[in-house]
Amino acid sequence: MSAAPDTSAPARAPARGDWLHALRDDYALAVLTLGGLVAVLWLAPFAVYRALEANWLAAVSDALLSMVLGGAAWHAWRTRDTRWPGWIMAFAIVGGIWAIGVAADFAALFWAYPAVLMMFFLIPAPAAAVLGVGAVAGAAALSWNELGGTQGLPFFVITNALTGVFGYLVSQQAHQRIERWQTLSLIDPLTGIGNRRLMEVEFAQAFTPSASGGMLAVLDIDHFKQVNDRHGHDAGDAVLRDVAAVVQLALRKSDRLFRLGGEEFVIWLPHGDSAAASAVLERVRQVVRERVRVGGEAITFSAGVATHNAPEPWQACLARADAALYRAKREGRDRVLWPQPGEAVAARN
Ligand code: GH3
Ligand code: MG
Ligand code: MG
Repeated sequence: MSAAPDTSAPARAPARGDWLHALRDDYALAVLTLGGLVAVLWLAPFAVYRALEANWLAAVSDALLSMVLGGAAWHAWRTRDTRWPGWIMAFAIVGGIWAIGVAADFAALFWAYPAVLMMFFLIPAPAAAVLGVGAVAGAAALSWNELGGTQGLPFFVITNALTGVFGYLVSQQAHQRIERWQTLSLIDPLTGIGNRRLMEVEFAQAFTPSASGGMLAVLDIDHFKQVNDRHGHDAGDAVLRDVAAVVQLALRKSDRLFRLGGEEFVIWLPHGDSAAASAVLERVRQVVRERVRVGGEAITFSAGVATHNAPEPWQACLARADAALYRAKREGRDRVLWPQPGEAVAARN
């Protein structure tokens, strides 16, 4: 039977303290941090230097750029959301290259390379290519003499294009690996359905204090230990796979099925009333009983189902469903029950 669900922390709270880990895991965060460091350690002192020189245009543009880049990095660290900070930093970099071209002549030519490279790690590739062209064209036009005019232009364009292609290839590989890793970490390899982690991610988004998330059911296969003992672990695995497949087929399109762990599953019924939920779960109980067999014997499950009452956390709803599941086991198994008042508290004591 499932342990009382953990209600102590939201599902996707950023891990605190482990900043090195975060930098290694999230390349966009790493690039934003790099931009933020350049802003604070290089551009901000330069803004002061330009001000002392009374070069006000350069001083103001350096100060503005360092604030925007630093702010974007800071926001990304605070929220672990890199999408908006990525766009802001990408546009700030192009604006910065142009400003450097106006104020400091040749320097824009050097900054164009890291700018083109960083783009591909901050925003989607097509947008990165467009903004990269903007940065390179601006640098070339504004530092035309330092570039060597038409003589230097092809070299500048080709070397920047190579930098961009390199940025594209490496960022795409990193992106694909992260997507693959995320899929692997959210899908249960035995049954192919979502695992507990995916369930927590989806619930954290769907169950809000202002709206009911619907109904949650906890299913637990009856006497599953005996299946393993009598027929072997592989037969037990096959039963788990069959149960997942049969339940999935019997659910409505909007219902979601997760493997909570072991021989326990969670069904999330986001829409409809309790009568509809009862009907769906009864159908699920029947089809599992009829279609899942091991050594000629029927497989059954017991379940508890509860309605989410906003603003309670989803964990409280799951705990009530779990308590009803305990009672279903006590009352003879192979049944689906709703909780009685105060039952979740009693079951945990
Ligand atoms: P009840 O009707 O009270 O739920 O009894 P039960 O035997 O189903 O419950 P119990 O919790 O005692 O046993 C669960 C078993 O599930 C024990 C464990 O070895 C088995 N199990 C957990 N995960 C897997 C798995 O991935 N594959 C297999 N084959 N067995 C598993
Ligand atoms: Mg169990
Ligand atoms: Mg069981």
